[in-house]
Amino acid sequence: LVLPLFIQGEVVKGFGRGSKDLGCPTANYSLEVVQSLPKNLEPGVYYGWAQVDNGPVHKMETHIMHKFEGDFYGSILKISLLGYLRGEKNFSSLDDLIEAIKQDIANAEQSLETPDAQNVKCNEYFTTKK
Ligand code: ADP
Ligand code: MG
Repeated sequence: LVLPLFIQGEVVKGFGRGSKDLGCPTANYSLEVVQSLPKNLEPGVYYGWAQVDNGPVHKMETHIMHKFEGDFYGSILKISLLGYLRGEKNFSSLDDLIEAIKQDIANAEQSLETPDAQNVKCNEYFTTKK
């Protein structure tokens, strides 16, 4: 399998839908970074660790599970994807989607407490400054 997967790249601007429509900002990578992902990576929702500009390592679920003081466009975001939560799906309402995201975050929260997940948090990938 392809996980855990370590990815880094600059945070770029999207349409701002995450914050505006969902109340949940999702940091975007450029198309180059996305296109460099393994081709056999199943589309869907993943959980893992995230680090902005060599700062603290936070839990994430696309949305980084941490309250930041502001935007961090142009920053280098390092992530490690550890597990697959669910496939992509269409929701019949925005409320259903927001509810699903809350559930994703709760599931990610739990999975990241396991010893295997905690080990990756300490990986030298996050402690070496490059
Ligand atoms: P965009 O379409 O530009 O990605 P979003 O509404 O999805 O806009 O918001 C994402 C941006 O919000 C990130 O690029 C980052 O600068 C900022 N941000 C602030 N807090 C967080 C967070 N906890 N998780 C992800 N992004 C965050
Ligand atoms: Mg976004």
